[in-house]
Formats: sequence, C-alpha cells, structure tokens
Amino acid sequence: MDLNQQIAVLKQIYAVYSEFISRFTIFCKKYCDTCCTGNVTGTTLEGYYLLKNMEKDQQSIVLEKFASPPSKRFQPKLSFNRIAKQCADGEDIQEAPVSISGKCPVLLNHQCLVYPYRPFGCRCMVSAKPCSETGYADIDPLIFSVNHAFMQLIEHLDAGGLSGNFSDVVNFLAIEKNRKAYENRLQLNHRILIPNISISVLMVPPEHRGQVEALLKQIG
Ligand code: SF4
Ligand code: SF4
Repeated sequence: MDLNQQIAVLKQIYAVYSEFISRFTIFCKKYCDTCCTGNVTGTTLEGYYLLKNMEKDQQSIVLEKFASPPSKRFQPKLSFNRIAKQCADGEDIQEAPVSISGKCPVLLNHQCLVYPYRPFGCRCMVSAKPCSETGYADIDPLIFSVNHAFMQLIEHLDAGGLSGNFSDVVNFLAIEKNRKAYENRLQLNHRILIPNISISVLMVPPEHRGQVEALLKQIG
C-alpha cells in the first residue's frame, strides 16, 4: 500500500469512527477544550496527513506552535500494539508516566488550529458529561474498546512509521530530511518516538468483540 492509499484508509477510519460516535449522546462541543492538552499522541501517518493538508497560510504558525510544546508532556515508551502483544505474552507493562501537561500548543482562543486534520487521539476523546465539571472524561465502555481497537488499527496501518507525543511527531516530520525518509520508506530512528508495529492481538473484551469487528469490516 502506498502513502496515498494509507491516507485514504486513515480517512475512512476517521469517517467510520465519526458515524459510530454519532450514535451516542456526548457533551463534547465547540470551545470545550479541557481535553486539549499537550499529552495527545499520534502516528507519523497522522502527522503526515496533517502537514500535507493544512491550509498553506496557517502552516508557519502551526509549525511554530508545535515547535513549542509544553515541557511536561506524555511521551509514550510503548505503542498500542506493543502493549497488546506484551499483555498477550504475559509481560509486565512499563509505560512512561502521564504528566499533567499544559494546553495543546495548537489550541488558540479555545479553538483547534488543525481541527479537520487532528489525530485520532483527539477524535476519540469524548465524554458524556463536561470534563471541566467531573474532572475526567465519562467514556462509554464500548467507545473505550473501539478507541483502543482503532488506535491499534492506525498503528498497524502505519507499521514501519513511528508513534509518540503528537507535537514530537509533527516536529519530526517538519524536517524535510525526515519527511522524505518517511515518504521513501526508509528506516526511521528517533530518540523519543517509538516504532509502530503490526497488530498481533486486538485488545477488545469479549462482550464488545462483535461490535468492534462489525466496525472494522466497514474499513477498506
Ligand atoms: S472530552 Fe471533555 S473536554 Fe473534551 S470536548 Fe468532550 S466534554 Fe469537552
Ligand atoms: S490537536 Fe486540536 S483537538 Fe487535538 S488536543 Fe490539540 S487543540 Fe485539541
């Protein structure tokens, strides 16, 4: 599959998810931004999709903002598929701590500068009640399972690429040499970003398996 085909599948994943989430009553709305922290993660495929599509007149301001992420931010050590594999193999999971981060760097006046191209990590953050009042996102267990499965699927789609804090991903791809290496399927190395791997096992509880599989069948 070439990069254009991968992006077509990514867009399909976003569309299927959007239709799925529309079946639930959720509070999320414009200007509600408690969840927009610097801890959001994503893949190189999603970073590439954003860089290739964002409005040209916004490009320099967006890149400048991503270049100054909160100093304390979540920088995962393990990808979703790696965690699933280690769980299946009965290994201990030693993930990086989730820091209390500042606001996402591309949040401006309570609005996302890259909203149409935001990664799945932002799209799947939904809540039945306002997080600002509860202090946490109230996520339906089925949505939680679908979120995890779709995270695994996006990583699988971008196997050979990298994952990590989304600001770090964008900053990596903003460097032309890195972007070209990604386009040309060269081996990517980064001090902090982690390698994406294919799915070996889907982390979905038995009670949600049927519904998750039905959604996955709608994709490609
Ligand atoms: S997840 Fe929470 S903070 Fe984010 S938009 Fe929804 S209700 Fe608002
Ligand atoms: S990229 Fe946009 S939607 Fe995602 S956390 Fe940042 S401001 Fe919020």
